[in-house]
Amino acid sequence: MSRRVYAGTNHQGVKQGNRGAVFRAIHALGPIARMEIAEHTGLNPGTVSRIVDELIDNGLARDTGLRSATGAGRRAADLEVVPSARYALGLDVARSAVTGAVVDLTGRVSERVVVPIPVTTTDAADAQVTEDVVERLMNSMPADERERLVGIGVGMPAPVSARTGRHLPMDHAAEWRHSELGPELERRWRLPTHVDNNANTAALAELWFGAGRGVDDFLLVNLSVGIGAGLVLSGELYRGDHDLAGEIGHVAVDINGPTCECGNVGCLHAYASVSAVLERVRTELDGGRASSLRDQPQPLTIEAVIAAARSGDPLTADILADVARYVAAAVSSIAYTVDPQLILVGRELPTAGDAFLTPFITELRQRLFPVVRDSVRIQATTVQAAPVVGAAILALRTFFDSPLSRQHA
Ligand SMILES: [Zn+2]
Repeated sequence: MSRRVYAGTNHQGVKQGNRGAVFRAIHALGPIARMEIAEHTGLNPGTVSRIVDELIDNGLARDTGLRSATGAGRRAADLEVVPSARYALGLDVARSAVTGAVVDLTGRVSERVVVPIPVTTTDAADAQVTEDVVERLMNSMPADERERLVGIGVGMPAPVSARTGRHLPMDHAAEWRHSELGPELERRWRLPTHVDNNANTAALAELWFGAGRGVDDFLLVNLSVGIGAGLVLSGELYRGDHDLAGEIGHVAVDINGPTCECGNVGCLHAYASVSAVLERVRTELDGGRASSLRDQPQPLTIEAVIAAARSGDPLTADILADVARYVAAAVSSIAYTVDPQLILVGRELPTAGDAFLTPFITELRQRLFPVVRDSVRIQATTVQAAPVVGAAILALRTFFDSPLSRQHA
């Protein structure tokens, strides 16, 4: 467990920071005793006790009634966060639909809404779909729960500036819309709204509630319409100098390969994006290969391709195995760069199960140094509804930084 995440200080005038450190420790490590919180935060026991009392008085934490042995052999009360003390809305904007959910402090989804984006869409229509999702979520909440909303988080399928919450201009991302989405939602609903790319939100979901809990260094790769990675280094999301860390769809896997949407050649995106996989399937079918996909309605969807792979269709299994090797080649270069303990793959392609995961894991392990090969964990993502839960964390983590500030009272 990284100490940086929970580091506090005893100086006067930094109460908020200390409250945040104690609250985050209870959240990440609870049920936890006061003495253990003191050890993890570096705060003195008196300070911890005072903050814990404040958190309990404000309904944010509670004594579980359980007792655990402390290092000194005393029995001490174990504390945990009250899940329903606050909520956030998490929105995941994809090309085909906007998904939204009400998420509590422990990542539990209590209401979920999916609204498709019309095929022939415009900026205004896209924005309207997102507004509809928020409105339906708001209407689903009792008034007392709505009052406990701390904000809205939005995951986008494109790079987002941490400073402005707006999309970063990239040629191949020109078709992405919603550049004013964050500010618009904030104006309309009068709630702090945070926007980030959906690889970062998925990594946050795993860091807070999934396989990444307590893991200092890991990477998560989304394999979908776009390909992107979220990097957690030393227990924190790593964004890089231009907020572009983890854009591994544009790592070259063949310097003589096909031209990518971004204008470069041989990018991973040109081999392993959903559109690249569908194109490959169509080419093979046109070439006369036998496949259960011939009976499927056209145009083919990635869901149909994955279902075929899961039921043992040889053509789709061959294609996914080949795609998996390209993904493994790109991921190995990131693994050599950051030396992670854990590598997670998520979104559409890994849902093919063994047809994708077995060739991916085999190829990736082969490419790593033996010492890494034998110890690194490689698996599919673990958090249900990770895109919306991760988006909600964008709003929740601001609350965790200053849980008793006026803004959140
Ligand atoms: Zn590219």
